[in-house]
Amino acid sequence: MRCTGIILAAGQGKRMNSKIQKQFLQLREYPVLYYSLKAFQDCPWMDEIILVTGQEEIAYCQEEFVNKYGFDKVKNIIAGGKERYHSVQNGLAACEKTDYVFIHDGARPFVNQEILDRGLSCVKQWDACVAGMPSKDTVKIVDNEGIVCSTPDRNRVWNIQTPQVFSYSLVANAYIQALQGDCTMITDDAMVVEKYGEHPVKVYEGAYKNIKITTPEDLPVAELFLLEDSSETS
Ligand code: C5P
Repeated sequence: MRCTGIILAAGQGKRMNSKIQKQFLQLREYPVLYYSLKAFQDCPWMDEIILVTGQEEIAYCQEEFVNKYGFDKVKNIIAGGKERYHSVQNGLAACEKTDYVFIHDGARPFVNQEILDRGLSCVKQWDACVAGMPSKDTVKIVDNEGIVCSTPDRNRVWNIQTPQVFSYSLVANAYIQALQGDCTMITDDAMVVEKYGEHPVKVYEGAYKNIKITTPEDLPVAELFLLEDSSETS
């Protein structure tokens, strides 16, 4: 069994309002991207990592992450694309022969061994699964004017995270088909597999801490989580 991590770090992070892309911002001791690379590197059954970043950042990532921290599971650093789904497609195309792919946002520094283990046991059973947590908030579906159309039963609403984990052939084929059509609505990989793979996608337990660094107010929260983690381990 071969497992490949595809770590996405090619976004511009416009919602962060920062000159530095969010995956390269400093979070206490290390940049945001370091933490997920470290979790994948240290995962005993993860065989290799493909890092997807901007064309301009390939040399920087090689030097400042792979060489600096000895992340020798990173087999390839490749350029992403305009949208997240382009970056995923490039990552999938760069995979060597593999069984399972763990697609992960480089902007989610709190992925850990427990989450990766749950993803592995889930994908072995279901072939397609995504990390998620029950929504704490009530969710409303609204129309173009912002008028509420419906309120889904909160017990059935989950916030979806990454890693999103798939049998390689299932997700790779689904992406090839998806990119031939209208992709504008694609915001995660599960959508592609649901629609084009015509395959059920199981949700496995992520963590409330597994946040994506997206807007400036996420940074102090992430720093606090790191502080908690360091006091737990000291
Ligand atoms: O923009 P969003 O927050 O959805 O990005 C999620 C992850 O996907 C981030 O880690 C970002 O770097 C990555 N991404 C990418 N290529 C893009 C857009 C986003 O690799 N074109």
